[in-house]
This record gives sequence, C-alpha cells and structure tokens, in this order.
Amino acid sequence: MVIARLAALVAVTAVLVQCAPDPGPPATPSPASPTAAEPAPETFRTVPRPPPLPPPPTAGPAVISSVTAADLGSTWQPGCPLPPERLRQVELDYRGFDGQTRRGQLVVHEDLTDEVVAVFAELYRIGYPIERMRTVENYPDADDELSMRDNNTSAFNCRDIPGTGQWSYHAYGRAIDVNPRLNPFVDRRGDYQPANAAPWVDRTRTEPGMLHDGDAAVLAFTDRGWTWGGHWRTPLDYQHFELP
Ligand SMILES: [Zn+2]
Repeated sequence: MVIARLAALVAVTAVLVQCAPDPGPPATPSPASPTAAEPAPETFRTVPRPPPLPPPPTAGPAVISSVTAADLGSTWQPGCPLPPERLRQVELDYRGFDGQTRRGQLVVHEDLTDEVVAVFAELYRIGYPIERMRTVENYPDADDELSMRDNNTSAFNCRDIPGTGQWSYHAYGRAIDVNPRLNPFVDRRGDYQPANAAPWVDRTRTEPGMLHDGDAAVLAFTDRGWTWGGHWRTPLDYQHFELP
C-alpha cells in the first residue's frame, strides 16, 4: 500500500517536472538531495507538505497613490462632486476567509487615507475576514449591485443615494461598504440589496464576516468616529460605514 502510494507520488512528481517551465541553471542542491558522498537510501520517505505559514499579526505597509479619471473608469464622470485629484487609491492588507493575507485596493477621499489604513489595520489585527476588495470600475458600468453581489468591499463610487437624487458619501470617497452580500442594505419595506443576500437579511445569523452591533469589527470604525448603517433606523445598511 505504502509502495503504491510512493509510486503514485513519484508519478505525480514526474508529471510536475515535465510540466514545469525550464528551471534554468541547477540551483545549489538542497540538504535533502542525495549527494555522491552519501549512499542512496533504500527507500525514501514522503515528507508532508508543511502547512502555510500563519499570517503576520500586523498588516504590512499600505501604499497610497494618486488616481486619474482614466484610473477611476466608470466610477467617475464629469459632474461628480469631487475631481480625481481629491481621491487616492489605498492598497492594503486584509485577511481572507482562509485567514491568509491578501492585498486589496480602495479609493477614498484624500483626507481619509491615514484613517482608512488605521481602520483596516485593526480589522486585520483582529482577524476579521474580507472576501475581496477591488475598485468598482472592475464591474460593468461600475454597477454597485454587481459589486455587492460579488461580496466586494469598496469605497468610492460616484453615485447618488437611491431614490433621493443626493450624492452618496461614496461619491466623496467617505463611505466604505464591507462584505456587502453578508451585510445587506434593507429598506423599511424589507426589500434588500444585493439580490443574492436573502440568507443574511436574517441578522440573528452569526457567521464570519457578518457585522453586528458591538462587534470588534464595527468598533474598529465607530470608535474612530465613523457612522455605521447598522445603527440607522431605516434603511438599515449593515455593510456601510461613513465618515462625514
Ligand atoms: Zn454604502
């Protein structure tokens, strides 16, 4: 049985070697490699692949960069309340649902970059998981519904508050939606967004990534003066944090 497994492993390794690109010049032999001075072992043991290293306890450095209208794509157009020069892209570390470190991008108001880095460093530190974080022009027509359905965490999008004709704080880069599928928008009639969020309209559920009053993830924002849409009476917007 062991021999059969070994044979399979050797076969797999051989295939991998065949598929691998040209490795270039041979590297220094690793300590595990047999050398001429050592007799060939009669058998070799398989060494289990080590588990991935735990992510570092603190987030790595964020990178702040300016943005142009071209960078902002369909999230921005002439007539928006802020020109692109007032916005910044913040690239930062977050934890995925597997606990591993990922890199994401948020576009925010130029005055809020330090603030946003501090909030997300805290979310990272406490291990709050985020599914994905990419800017909304990655979705056709910068459609917020598509971004929300994708459970995408995002900030800037030059759009109004639905049904009001007023600019949303998102249009100023002063609002962030976090794991929006798990933390939907619910109006006073009980209608919700995004359309695939039905299971999470039930806020008695508790799952990683959901936001509830008093959670450390909510406090990471509200302790710094952000307003949480989950504290509103109506509508309830569990994904939404804003800093006027
Ligand atoms: Zn929002």
